[in-house]
Amino acid sequence: MRAQWDVIVVGAGPGGSTAAARLAQAGVDVLLVDKERFPREKPCSDIYGPFGARTYEELGVYERLLEAGYVYPGVLLSSPDYTAIYGANGKGLTCPRRVGDNILKENASRLGAEVWEEFWVHDLVVKDGQVRGVRAKYQGEFRDYRCDVVIGADGSHSWVAKRLGLFVDDYDQVYLAGRAYWRGCSPPLRDVEVHYDPSFNPGFVCLSPHPGYDDVVNMGVGIQMSQYGRLSLNAEEMVEKFVAESPHGEKMRGAERVSDWTGWRVPSAGQIGKNYAAGAVLVGDAGNFVEPFILEGVASAVRSANYAARAVLAALEERDFSEDSLSRYGEKWEKKMGPQLRALQGMAVTAADADALNGLFGGLKDDPEAVSRVFGE
Ligand SMILES: Cc1cc2nc3c(=O)[nH]c(=O)nc-3n(C[C@H](O)[C@H](O)[C@H](O)COP(=O)(O)OP(=O)(O)OC[C@H]3O[C@@H](n4cnc5c(N)ncnc54)[C@H](O)[C@@H]3O)c2cc1C
Repeated sequence: MRAQWDVIVVGAGPGGSTAAARLAQAGVDVLLVDKERFPREKPCSDIYGPFGARTYEELGVYERLLEAGYVYPGVLLSSPDYTAIYGANGKGLTCPRRVGDNILKENASRLGAEVWEEFWVHDLVVKDGQVRGVRAKYQGEFRDYRCDVVIGADGSHSWVAKRLGLFVDDYDQVYLAGRAYWRGCSPPLRDVEVHYDPSFNPGFVCLSPHPGYDDVVNMGVGIQMSQYGRLSLNAEEMVEKFVAESPHGEKMRGAERVSDWTGWRVPSAGQIGKNYAAGAVLVGDAGNFVEPFILEGVASAVRSANYAARAVLAALEERDFSEDSLSRYGEKWEKKMGPQLRALQGMAVTAADADALNGLFGGLKDDPEAVSRVFGE
């Protein structure tokens, strides 16, 4: 079995599939691996935010996502006093992650990436302080697979980040998010909705529509780990309270839950820091790229993967895989994504104070263009 590649990408979610697709498109010998067999579930509100669309277009996969998904007209948000603001959507879509992520992974393969599933990375191969590959269990055997650069795209609990000593876990910046599917929203949901509820602020309820999938609604919650520990409600009870008491929850009062609840750790960019090392870079959740406040991490995983792929291409060209060489990734994402991530972090801080959030939304409610700029492009 082959055991040497230019690049090994660990994790075939949106971040890893994008990085692998970009590199394969540029002619790099890239192996994309995932511990799961696709299609696989990922607990999520299923929103592929608008800021990823340009990449999907460049990779020739946007049409395919459109066929499988739904372009929602806009995003409705409300603050704890129920002040609502609305922004039009650009090219964002909803699609069950099981379906959309499989499309992205297949596209990486179509562009030339080798894809191995049920490949569990449990360690890195490190020599002279530089990452040289991964240790993995694949087809029942534990072996080393060597490469020039490892891209850690292995999500929120990233082994690659932990092994590099770059894993961060600040409970004010890490969120708990959970969701389930429901049938019977009346009237049918068409926009994405995010509601900061007075009963558990700064936690919020998110609803996203799936007209093409039996019109189910994905409804879930997001809240900082530090706040969750202080609440007397669990995630399911938060949603029940929202449905029973909020005017925005009224449309869900007759709806029936048609799936189990699932939840996951969400590392917001409020704790983003260094995400490169000699021979390795981290993208998406592994690198803490989730947009604060709205907790969208798909589009930012995709965008971080673009910048990582560029830095890795330059390193391959120069045959320089040192930390210094790969620090170009850090410079690039900071320049291109830093300002937006910081603006959203500012809103996340505001959200912790219900009065401040009410004031912010009060100021924005007559400025749909400002809302679209932040949430809809
Ligand atoms: C309830 C909830 C709702 C959310 N809603 C949204 C939303 O609507 N929109 C949005 O943009 N974001 C949302 N997010 C955040 C979003 O899900 C993540 O930011 C996004 O999935 C990050 O993509 P990724 O490619 O970095 O990682 P992932 O999508 O998590 O992919 C990582 C991949 O790595 C694989 N992997 C992990 N460990 C290993 C290993 N050791 N070896 C091999 N493979 C491995 C996994 O199997 C997985 O396929 C939500 C999160 C939660 C929990």
